[in-house]
Amino acid sequence: MQHPPYQSLAPQPQGTLEPCVQGHHDTTLRFGLCGILMAIIFFPVGLLCLCLDTRRVCVRCGTVVV
Ligand SMILES: [Zn+2]
Repeated sequence: MQHPPYQSLAPQPQGTLEPCVQGHHDTTLRFGLCGILMAIIFFPVGLLCLCLDTRRVCVRCGTVVV
């Protein structure tokens, strides 16, 4: 009874998140909305805020990597 027959019906992404599980996230920089607004309103000083409001987000699982 280790493999229930209805398990294959559930949509499960297999293999794609394996590096993430192991801690190897494929990160990209995301700018926060506040940072973008600050950059526009307080240009050019606001660009500093934009740099501070960036975060690394994994493109596969969406985890914010600190
Ligand atoms: Zn990930």
